[in-house]
Amino acid sequence: MTLGIEQKINKLREELRLHNYNYYVLDNATITDYDFDLKLKELEKLEVENPQFFDANSPTHRVGGEVTKNFKTVAHKNRMYSLANSYSKDDLLDWEKRIKKNLETEDVTYTCELKYDGASINLSYENGKLISAVTRGDGFEGDNVTANIKTIKSIPLVLKDNFVDDFEIRGEIILPLEGFNKMNEERIEAGEDPYKNPRNTASGSLKLQDSAEVAKRPLDCLLYHIVSTKNIKSTHFKTLENARGLGFKVPKAIEVCSTIDEVFNFIEKWDIKRHQLPYETDGVVVKVNSLAQQDELGYTAKSPRWAIAYKFKTEQESTVLKEITYQVGRTGAITPVANLEPVQLAGTIVKRASLHNADQIEKLDVRINDTVFVEKGGEIIPKIVGVDLTARPINSLPTVYITNCPDCDTILIRNEGDAKHYCPNEYGCPTQITGRIQHFISRKAMNIDGLGAETVELLFNQGLIHNYADLFELKEAQIIPLERMAEKSAQNIILGIENSKQISFEKVLFGLGIRFVGETVAKKLAKHFKSIDNLMQATFEELIAVDEIGDRIAESVLSFSANLINIQIIDRLKGYGVQLEVSAKSLENTTQLLNGSSFVVSGVFLLFSRNELKKSIEDNGGKVVGSISKKTNYVIAGDNMGPSKRTKAESLLIPIISEADYLKMINN
Ligand code: AMP
Ligand code: ZN
Repeated sequence: MTLGIEQKINKLREELRLHNYNYYVLDNATITDYDFDLKLKELEKLEVENPQFFDANSPTHRVGGEVTKNFKTVAHKNRMYSLANSYSKDDLLDWEKRIKKNLETEDVTYTCELKYDGASINLSYENGKLISAVTRGDGFEGDNVTANIKTIKSIPLVLKDNFVDDFEIRGEIILPLEGFNKMNEERIEAGEDPYKNPRNTASGSLKLQDSAEVAKRPLDCLLYHIVSTKNIKSTHFKTLENARGLGFKVPKAIEVCSTIDEVFNFIEKWDIKRHQLPYETDGVVVKVNSLAQQDELGYTAKSPRWAIAYKFKTEQESTVLKEITYQVGRTGAITPVANLEPVQLAGTIVKRASLHNADQIEKLDVRINDTVFVEKGGEIIPKIVGVDLTARPINSLPTVYITNCPDCDTILIRNEGDAKHYCPNEYGCPTQITGRIQHFISRKAMNIDGLGAETVELLFNQGLIHNYADLFELKEAQIIPLERMAEKSAQNIILGIENSKQISFEKVLFGLGIRFVGETVAKKLAKHFKSIDNLMQATFEELIAVDEIGDRIAESVLSFSANLINIQIIDRLKGYGVQLEVSAKSLENTTQLLNGSSFVVSGVFLLFSRNELKKSIEDNGGKVVGSISKKTNYVIAGDNMGPSKRTKAESLLIPIISEADYLKMINN
């Protein structure tokens, strides 16, 4: 009987591993997301019911949940070196000469690989299983980030084939451009500053304390080097092919070259083709192919003699800055924009570049009529990286940042810790008013068909709407006489507004445009508080007790809720029949077994990640709070529960229960 279950668990684990591999490494899914989720859920259930078959490398552990406060520093078994750089064909020819002299032979072949631009990582495998992942650090020792690395789905936790008992494999953790841009779109939508570039974001992700957060980032890992005492292959190229066979993601852009001219062809080819890659590369790494020759060449104090990086020239152009204009966002944030003399850069014509904020302008000391250097990386908008001071006109004056809103002339403010200036005239600044309504009607919010950004401006300019509640009072007869409107389009607008009353609460909440409440945060808040009334009555403590809701978001929600104008608008929306609470249908998967009891969760759990446990409590009608008080009903204790929490719970006579006790409560 028990054997049957163990086999079932193992079979599911194997199947899921294969699907992960097909999807994340080969980019070729053979199962729908839905079916994958079903299998994963089935495995999760079996593992919860049969904790004796726990396995840290099970595919169920990919979602993260482990929290690391301080990453442990560990020594590398084998030092992680840097790479020597080269910038020209001459540099490469010099390198070739040195190698051939050193080896006393002309018989050398090379492999060319792309240089992946991210954060280096060292993965250790024993008996076919991932046992640790350590950052490069200073090359001698790095940080153990295994819990975070396990969430990256293209990294095999268990190998397809056992290669040697014990080996290390090195690669680069990268953030592909598409995922990076999507993350930034979400940040911009939530009123947050976008991340600067994929590379820093990738390396920053490795140091996040909550691995569940890492799991949400679309990170990837590209492998380029195996370190093993049992070198069973003769060339670097073959070890990489072998690694690919074990389930690692080794990019296909690798070639064996027998001359430096062939190396140069590879470089020239990829200098153009790299713009089509899904990730960033800043050059090519050329390595001596024979492992015996690599051994013979050895290392300098800093880098292997058998490898050299060739750096592509950065895409940089100079052009004249004609004007700095200032944009007002829907939340009032001001962004300075450089208007440039059009210039050709990385295949597109660039006319504008972001200047981010006042500090950036001051740091670069950019002035009107300056000749500036413009670069294009993975970002959507190009950036100005410097000024050509030799070309500065004699009478040039430093840029003075605006003090008043370019739209409504209100004096701008800048809160401590904020990078940007804000226009505080939330309800009187035309751009903010129309921006908020445009956000409200957008696809991911109320999705009002027939109504576009321009129409919103038109309606506002005609004095027909001042806020999003006014939309629901619009009459066909008011719209028809407007420019470019006719009976049909007016009907469509009214119908679209009517239909938006069916839109779910989480989307409505997102549409309200509360600063820092983006799509994901809105979902969290909707799920937790269930209605706008609960949300608007929540205290600071109740808000921050919600998973992933921090001080900034909590304060923003509080200030929204305290504002009389908002209270009135929300009342009106209710009156029109807009969904301001979660519908009965979305509650179907939940129970009320825990009926409002409040729980504190502490320590590390075997069957649940902390986030899963919190979610389970909420799904069953309980409340999760951050700290123990007289009002707490239960403390669920895992391994390593904090001693101060235990003392406090004991002194307040609050029952401390185990994970198993909890399962009994909800499986009644
Ligand atoms: P640098 O940081 O400029 O000294 O470059 C060395 C780093 O390049 C290494 O630590 C690796 O993390 C990284 N790298 C990226 N792609 C490759 C590759 N194909 N082969 C070797 N190293 C690579
Ligand atoms: Zn303004």
